[in-house]
Amino acid sequence: MTEILVLVDHADGAVRKTTTELLTIARRAGEPSAVFLGSGYEAAKETLSAFGAEKVYVADAPELDDYLVAPKAEVLAQIAANVNPAAVLIASNPDGKEIAARLAVKLESGIITDAVDVGADLTTTQSAFAASYSVTARVTHGTPVITVKPNSATPEQAATTPVEEKVAASVSDTSKAARIVSRSAREATGRPELTEAAIVVSGGRGTGGNFAPVEALADALGGAVGASRAAVDSGWYPHSHQVGQTGQTVSPQLYIAAGISGAIQHRAGMQTSKTIVAVDKDPEAPIFSMVDFGVVGDLHTILPQATEEILKRKG
Ligand code: FAD
Repeated sequence: MTEILVLVDHADGAVRKTTTELLTIARRAGEPSAVFLGSGYEAAKETLSAFGAEKVYVADAPELDDYLVAPKAEVLAQIAANVNPAAVLIASNPDGKEIAARLAVKLESGIITDAVDVGADLTTTQSAFAASYSVTARVTHGTPVITVKPNSATPEQAATTPVEEKVAASVSDTSKAARIVSRSAREATGRPELTEAAIVVSGGRGTGGNFAPVEALADALGGAVGASRAAVDSGWYPHSHQVGQTGQTVSPQLYIAAGISGAIQHRAGMQTSKTIVAVDKDPEAPIFSMVDFGVVGDLHTILPQATEEILKRKG
């Protein structure tokens, strides 16, 4: 069987959902081998075996977390050079894309970023020009390095007992040139991570800067909060919550857009959501052309009503 390397995306061993998606995708093309870099491997083990890693290369080296991504790219390149896999799959987030770029240079290989699907023959699909075009591509030189956007696959369990191979993290001084001097945790909201959430409630310019009804509805539903670029550019919500072409891509079971007109750049980040609901006071708003359910009205009235009803039903 062909070995496919999957770089584990984790925080102190807490494996992010994107990794379980990558393991599922890797299984289509061959035998998934996880690569765990950094500290906390014991905490990650269970998830990696539940989602089908046949093998895990472990560099359980806390010092890898002390630097920016260069040391991780270096160790991953050493593993890939030894293993000679059919492909390396990495999550499409800022760190993942930088690691992928450095890896492709070190391996002198082709790279494809932001794939939304990867077939059994490692042919990738990318969404281009705000999802107006779908691009099918394949790496034809070296070991394909592919970054895959979150929610591109539904994680499938495939219980395994992975073979563990310890790897020495030998890192050059060049890779250690930039060190992390401090970290500050994001304010804990208790909400799920935006790109992983099953339910997302997003607010746009129509909120007028008052995100309280959006947050209240998200909390009643156990969802995450998103925002349009207009809301983010106005300083009403952090950029990390922006959904769209230049923000995050989300693909939840339920996406609720409140006071968002439905510009193509916003659609690019949410159009694969399973059920889409929009609340907008303008019946002609373009968002209504793509929704499963639309409510014409003032979000400051509609959202609190919905929240109250949901909380009532929850008891
Ligand atoms: P608007 O288009 O102004 O829509 C506001 C809506 O709220 C209107 O439909 C209005 O009827 C409604 N409304 C007003 N008051 C109420 C109320 N009280 N109750 C209910 N409804 C109300 N945009 C993104 O979102 N994400 C991106 O990643 C992104 N990337 C971009 C990249 C590029 C290169 C460019 C050029 C643009 C990008 N944009 C992006 C911007 C995009 O083109 C739109 O400008 C933006 O999405 C508009 O945000 P909005 O829908 O909140 O605001």
